[in-house]
Amino acid sequence: MPEEKVRMQFLGATGYVTGSRTLMETKDTRIYVDAGLYQGQKYIEEKNYEPLETDSKKIHAIFLTHAHIDHSGLIPLLVKKGFTGKIFCTPGTKDLLEILLPDAGRLQEEEFRFIGKKKIIEYQLDGPLFNEEDAINSLQYIETVQFNEKIAFRDFFAQFYWAGHILGAANLQLETCGKTFLFSGDIGPRNTVIHKARCDPPGADYIIMESTYGDRLHEEEDFSKKMLDAVNIIIRRKGVLLIPAFAVGRTQLILYVIYCLIKGDNIPHLPVFIDSPMATKATLAYLKYPEEIHKHIIDEKFFEFIKSREIHLIEDVVSSKRLNYFNGPAIIISASGMCSGGRIMHHLFNRIWDRRNLILFVGYQAQGTLGRKIVDGSTRVKIFNRELPVRASLRSIDSFSAHADQAGLVDWLSESCKKKKPQTVFIIHGEEDSRIAFKEYIKFIDPQEIVLPKSEEIFYL
Ligand SMILES: [Zn+2]
Repeated sequence: MPEEKVRMQFLGATGYVTGSRTLMETKDTRIYVDAGLYQGQKYIEEKNYEPLETDSKKIHAIFLTHAHIDHSGLIPLLVKKGFTGKIFCTPGTKDLLEILLPDAGRLQEEEFRFIGKKKIIEYQLDGPLFNEEDAINSLQYIETVQFNEKIAFRDFFAQFYWAGHILGAANLQLETCGKTFLFSGDIGPRNTVIHKARCDPPGADYIIMESTYGDRLHEEEDFSKKMLDAVNIIIRRKGVLLIPAFAVGRTQLILYVIYCLIKGDNIPHLPVFIDSPMATKATLAYLKYPEEIHKHIIDEKFFEFIKSREIHLIEDVVSSKRLNYFNGPAIIISASGMCSGGRIMHHLFNRIWDRRNLILFVGYQAQGTLGRKIVDGSTRVKIFNRELPVRASLRSIDSFSAHADQAGLVDWLSESCKKKKPQTVFIIHGEEDSRIAFKEYIKFIDPQEIVLPKSEEIFYL
């Protein structure tokens, strides 16, 4: 290790939007920034089984930008392999990790049961990557840091800045060996709906930034009107509005849109069920951090609405099953967001064949998922081994992204560059096309160097 240089190695999210992990090493210290799982298609998820490059026992700390599994989901495995260092994150992130990591453990156990003998031999697996117990065990290493608080850890200083992406999500600035490093994590859109808008990032010598939408602009869309139309349809038909939604961020956003429609007398009061234990827990976590929500939303008494009798937060299975006999009009929000598992499957099984109902998609539906099949217009789908006709009406809202688009990413970068001209901008966390397009697009900002790091590539800075 050359004296006073920082060794940085990109271990994930290079040409992908998942598996975020960067190793930083000085003479005395070894840390990870984020430790995410690969998610999505099978060939991408298989990367999770590749052996780790560094002995987990030798990692002193993990600095986490936010709780999404593609940034945090590797932690239980690292702990299982001997990591006993500190995990630094904001308090909101800690609350979400307590919900998301044990769930990830349960999913790994399930996945192991389906993975097939050949793969188990190929990867020399004697069990799942990690289980629920490993995940719960890993939570003891978390240490929370407030936003904007500067902390020292060995030869590093660290500070988290509000990113406007999900509860607790941050940009992270690290300082060591006389240099500054700014990690974007995931950057929220310019016009956030419920989260407080992101703050201006600081300047830095090196910027490591995401590029999920580096090649695209979000389309403008009147999502309130779309929601209003959907609700009006099910009121007329006395049906159920079924919304498959991610538990963290998306569910709370939909609740807010519904709240605004009721408050503005655009729709009547009607029962709203959140039937997802994880979404219920995440919603309660959001209630703990009003300072991370837009101020006008707090003033509007949105939180009182969530706590009101109109909103039914459902955790137990019996109450969930009772919903099968509930006649409309009503709204049921349930996970998973792509209809790839979870309680939404039961609701689809019970309601997709009934013309009175309407299914509203509010997020991206990946290839191969049931959600994608329905969105693509399949007239029959298989749920729980039964072929069912798709007779419910379908609608989509596409503008609920928790990510900045190309213009938003450029804004963020420009603000940092105004404070300090970076030596290098590293572009990660984007599909290859997106990274390349973004690199071309930001040349006008004129950093000294723009780099698209390759998998496992090492830089001495
Ligand atoms: Zn994220």
